[in-house]
Amino acid sequence: MARSKSILGEARQIERAVALIELGARLQVLESETELSYERLLRLYKEVAGRSPSKGQLPFSTDWFMTWQPNIHASLFLNVHEYLNKVAALEEIDAVIKAYRLYLEQVQAQGLEPMLSVTRAWRLVKFVDNGMLTMTRCSSCGGHFVTHPHEIARHYVCGLCNPPARAGKGRAAGALRLGALADEADDAVDAVDAVIPEALAPPDPEALATAAAYLSGLGLRAPARSGSLPA
Ligand SMILES: [Zn+2]
Repeated sequence: MARSKSILGEARQIERAVALIELGARLQVLESETELSYERLLRLYKEVAGRSPSKGQLPFSTDWFMTWQPNIHASLFLNVHEYLNKVAALEEIDAVIKAYRLYLEQVQAQGLEPMLSVTRAWRLVKFVDNGMLTMTRCSSCGGHFVTHPHEIARHYVCGLCNPPARAGKGRAAGALRLGALADEADDAVDAVDAVIPEALAPPDPEALATAAAYLSGLGLRAPARSGSLPA
């Protein structure tokens, strides 16, 4: 990427960086997506966020996206992202920013915690770009969900149509809440990774119904299945 020479070009870079900081992006995202120097980004971060950026590694594994609730959040974001890419000529990072804002709106309208951080959303798009993740159509409801690329579409059934068996509800909900909070603060991606085994525990039917409702709001036909779960 060539260094931006014009003042307008730089203004655009700063505007992007500010948008990303406000959404809670990690510094590594800003470094990757803008041409501003590390020192300037650091100053900008402190100015906008009112604190120093958190340190630590970026999440590098695709595993998180495969766990039950994260998969639904990630799928929601990616559906919005793909849609935006189809209907608008946006630069890659601007598509991520816009799709992430729409994702937040959708989730918050449902009174849910956003489980997907903007850093993970950005990461997800990279994983899709380099072929490590893709979307597969659910053979039952027809919605498109984040999967590994080798998923056989004819047999694929999504996490809404085929939720994990129900057990240890309170514990799972607690772990998911913890994961969401940690993700939101975005200073503990490692802490989120630590609760992944817990997040794999089955969801509660209420969360399932809510998730189904907001996916259906996106135009994805939601399964009627959630209502038939044991109370
Ligand atoms: Zn399905």
